[in-house]
Amino acid sequence: MFNEERRFEQPIRWGMVGGGRGSQIGYAHRSAAHRDGLFKLVAGAFDLDADRCREFGVNLGLDADRCYSNYKDFFAAESKRPDGIQAVSVATPNSTHYEICKSALDVGLHIVCEKPLTFTSEEAEELKAIAAEKNCVIGVMYGYSGFPMVHQAREMVERGDLGEIRVVNMQFAHGFHNEEYELNDPGLKWRVSPATSGPTYVLGDIGTHAYYLCEVMTGLEIDRLACMRQSFIASRQPLEDNAHVMMEFKGGAVGTLWASAVNAGSMHEQRIRIVGSKASIEWWDEHPNQLRYEVQGEAPRVLDRGMGYLYQDVEGVAANRIGGGHAEGFFESWANLYHRFALAFDAADRDDQETLNSIWFPGVDAGIEGVRLCEKCVESADQGAAWVAYND
Ligand code: NAD
Repeated sequence: MFNEERRFEQPIRWGMVGGGRGSQIGYAHRSAAHRDGLFKLVAGAFDLDADRCREFGVNLGLDADRCYSNYKDFFAAESKRPDGIQAVSVATPNSTHYEICKSALDVGLHIVCEKPLTFTSEEAEELKAIAAEKNCVIGVMYGYSGFPMVHQAREMVERGDLGEIRVVNMQFAHGFHNEEYELNDPGLKWRVSPATSGPTYVLGDIGTHAYYLCEVMTGLEIDRLACMRQSFIASRQPLEDNAHVMMEFKGGAVGTLWASAVNAGSMHEQRIRIVGSKASIEWWDEHPNQLRYEVQGEAPRVLDRGMGYLYQDVEGVAANRIGGGHAEGFFESWANLYHRFALAFDAADRDDQETLNSIWFPGVDAGIEGVRLCEKCVESADQGAAWVAYND
């Protein structure tokens, strides 16, 4: 099991470009990076708006003079400080990734960049070459690939549990953009504009996630592909809000990928099904703890994270933070409670009874009730499962 014990002496001094107030994904980066204490946010150029950046950064606990109005000043200033950042995460719209990463590499920073990494593969290859020259590491936030069951799937394919891989069915098809919501949503507007999104919308925005799962789980390499793409919201053209891709992999396996933002009524529907000559597996990101395992001629099985029957000797499978049975959202639930505990402690310290009373959290009464339940159960059981009054 993972825990937060230190892996090295000091946390990595870390900054962010983008991910400012109101952004979709900034908090996910900060929350994930801070969880094990391996990174410490010390500086950033979080926002296009300099005042908002400073105000937000100070609110996060940073020194005002380390909240920068743009990434160029950010990297220049930090590279001159003895305690300057060692790594940066880039969580800005797609059009900026290449330039920002290049500037970060210039000053020797390690990078975690959002996907799609760049607009063109030439740009991405160039970043790779510069990183190698500078001894810098580039990570890309294909966020679903950290789930332990994704690594169990990879291992099952690798060890031949499915036989020879024949078919891979991938999809990431949500319904959130089935209408022209970009008219009132800046985060969607840039996604459907070629200048900021790049040559694709759903293929880059979500199709890359599903395809990366295929890469991780199967290691298959595409030999050739055919893609049909269209925009059901006409104003999004030439970008697509729906795409179907057929793939032929080297070695004979075939695959399909459906990426869509107009799958009305669907939440995520990011699924991957891998069909082998003996058995198939299927993983769904909305139920990440489970991996369906279907052997031809046998009853289907559902494998669960954290269980001894998994390939525990594999690092990715053992990257299990909470034990089997607990949902991955367990930490989010705990964070919601700690958030409320903090607000309640603060209100009490300020003698602000009204605020204190308005905050819901499981308090001492909830604790008493749990104890009473146990007492009464024992009392009943000790009398041979007799009826006992609860509140006497
Ligand atoms: P967003 O529009 O919600 O937020 C972008 C943020 O970046 C804003 O705070 C904006 O002010 C800031 N910004 C824009 N240009 C900047 C610049 N030049 N310098 C500094 N700050 C700048 O966008 P988002 O939805 O958070 O997406 C950001 C990136 O993350 C995109 O590449 C997107 O594809 C990716 N993303 C990845 C995932 C995932 O699961 N890995 C999920 C959502 C978004």
